[in-house]
Amino acid sequence: MPAPIPPADDAPPTEAAQAKPPSGPQRAMERLGLVTPMALALHLPLRYEDETRLTPVAQVRPGQVVQVDAVVRDARVEQRGRRQLVVQVQDDAGDELVLRFLHFYPSHQKSLQAGARVRLRGEVRTGMFGREMVHPAFKVVDEHTPLAASLTPVYPASAQLPQAYLRKAVAGGLQRAPLGELLPMGTVPAGLPPLRDALRFLHHPPPSASLAQLEDHTHPAWQRLKFEELLAQQLSQMQARRERALLQAPPLQPEAGGLRDQFVQVLPFALTDAQQRVVDEITADLALPQPMHRLLQGDVGSGKTVVAALAACVAMDAGWQCALMAPTEILAEQHFAKLVQWLTPLGVQVAWLSGSRKGKLRKQQLEAIASGAAKLVVGTHAVIQDDVHFQRLGLAVVDEQHRFGVAQRLELRRKLREQTATGARLEPHLLMMSATPIPRTLAMTYFADLEVSTIDELPPGRSPIVTRVFAEGRRDEVIARIRDEVTRGRQVYWVCPLVEESDAEDLTGKSMAELNNATATHAELVGSLQGIAVGLVHGRMKAAEKAEVMAAFKNNQIGVLVATTVIEVGVDVPNASLMVIDHAERFGLAQLHQLRGRVGRGEAESVCVLLYSQPLSDTGKQRLRAMAETTDGFEIARRDLELRGPGEFMGARQSGDALLRFADLQEDAPLLAQARRMAPLLLDRHPEAAREQVARWLGGKAEFLKA
Ligand code: ADP
Ligand code: MG
Repeated sequence: MPAPIPPADDAPPTEAAQAKPPSGPQRAMERLGLVTPMALALHLPLRYEDETRLTPVAQVRPGQVVQVDAVVRDARVEQRGRRQLVVQVQDDAGDELVLRFLHFYPSHQKSLQAGARVRLRGEVRTGMFGREMVHPAFKVVDEHTPLAASLTPVYPASAQLPQAYLRKAVAGGLQRAPLGELLPMGTVPAGLPPLRDALRFLHHPPPSASLAQLEDHTHPAWQRLKFEELLAQQLSQMQARRERALLQAPPLQPEAGGLRDQFVQVLPFALTDAQQRVVDEITADLALPQPMHRLLQGDVGSGKTVVAALAACVAMDAGWQCALMAPTEILAEQHFAKLVQWLTPLGVQVAWLSGSRKGKLRKQQLEAIASGAAKLVVGTHAVIQDDVHFQRLGLAVVDEQHRFGVAQRLELRRKLREQTATGARLEPHLLMMSATPIPRTLAMTYFADLEVSTIDELPPGRSPIVTRVFAEGRRDEVIARIRDEVTRGRQVYWVCPLVEESDAEDLTGKSMAELNNATATHAELVGSLQGIAVGLVHGRMKAAEKAEVMAAFKNNQIGVLVATTVIEVGVDVPNASLMVIDHAERFGLAQLHQLRGRVGRGEAESVCVLLYSQPLSDTGKQRLRAMAETTDGFEIARRDLELRGPGEFMGARQSGDALLRFADLQEDAPLLAQARRMAPLLLDRHPEAAREQVARWLGGKAEFLKA
């Protein structure tokens, strides 16, 4: 039986009350996602207050937070520097304590009259007149008022959500949540309590519990919670992998002397060993009758495009179409140009699809795609719009896949499934590319359903990038440096600050603010760099305008390009040797690394200047330092992970929720190992329990893990 929540003025509404518009605290709870009993049961305390015992005043050490029962001897308003309520109290042993309230109301004075017995909680300090508490929490009690039976939880809350309200709601949720044991004997690590007991313990620990173990999350109750979460995640991953093994794809094999071989012949450079290795891995996958699901990761500039082109050639050799999709129009356009340059001489017709190509031109492309005349299709996500029908799609390549939101990635896969081929129930092979390398442990856990290929070597002859961190005050120096660079025939990017979401009302507001900023910076640089052509490119420009500016920059008709982050990925202008990133502290590490990768693409020594403005947080400092210290994308990813935690690192914020809330992949490696051992056993012998476990923990998120 679900226990009714006691009705009180500030109690959470019962079911009957829910028809009324939600109260402030209720709305605040909704914003925190605390809408189901389970969500409430999993809303764990940040810390605890010990209200289970009283400390005699004589035993209190200064700096200690304690609870004291005492009787008011005297209370008066005094002028000690400023007006304040000063209350003298005495505990049962006769020891005295002074309470000071700098803000107080008549109700304070009323409660704290001489003779009243009060229970105080606060930090004790040594003041001018002996031991004192400033602004203690207090309530009027009598000799029989009981102490708390368990430690008092302090929950993550918000200004509109009082702790008392939240405590009641969580206690109610804890009683109603379906927390029955799902896991068979022997699958849970020895010594860990059942989930229900673990949660009860964590919300209401007995006075004897070790606060240290609770707060550093090593307590067995915490371990159980983390194990549950890790297990659910492993189960869903393995399940996805098994499901995929049942799917069918066209086996794609290169033809001797075909496109692939011809392309290798005309390629103006030799593949690096690392490129050759990943090409072999991909080719082996493509030959199988199951869909490939492979992530190709390689640092910025490591040469992923040519690998994608080779994979496309294999598909085309086998008589199938290939689609290549990029997150921005600029990037897609570069791919298109490169692939046309490489493959048109070999007789391949490449189609181009983007949001901005409409009307007759688009119709022609769609026809070529549907008839199979266009074997290769390049574009933005316009490639997977409803009216695009492939004759038979055998391979889809998604570049910079992390730039697509999680939901977009899911949609993509659903769409691709429909696009495969005539009649047959086949799926295309999928190759995802990313320049944001994922550390191995993460790849293993988040992507148990994904094979990973890594290019760990850059093509020869790259010049290293030197990164300098400058305070905003040195802007003039930086501008002088730009002039030097352009005078020597080199080119410069100036990246405008990211406008944080909180700065603007919505996405439109955000891009407006970014635009204003870019326009202002452009005007500033035009003014201070007389005689130098300064261009501007931003997300609000029409595609054709953007393309025009990019082409002018590529041809060195523009010396300095002011840009918003539209240039973040893939842009390839080897003559650019200086990049200035304005308000670098607003960017994430991975993003800075991507941006920086736009220089250092030619022979010239390249410099990246990170301009920051004060005040800079500690994390901010560490971030910029990390950027200056290393150009290795893997190392940067590792530090990013440390600074941000895996949830955010994976872009899981987009799904509204971190994928792992409780467990930490590094700290909880032993639990993770156990979960990995148990998952296949559960799937084989207890499929129902496995299904329920995934549903309980991941619910709708299980799908996200497949994206
Ligand atoms: P990314 O991995 O960042 O997508 P690109 O595919 O854009 O990198 O490659 C960066 C540059 O390096 C391109 O100009 C590309 O033609 C060139 N490149 C790729 N592979 C090699 C190689 N093996 N040798 C020399 N240059 C290469
Ligand atoms: Mg690329």
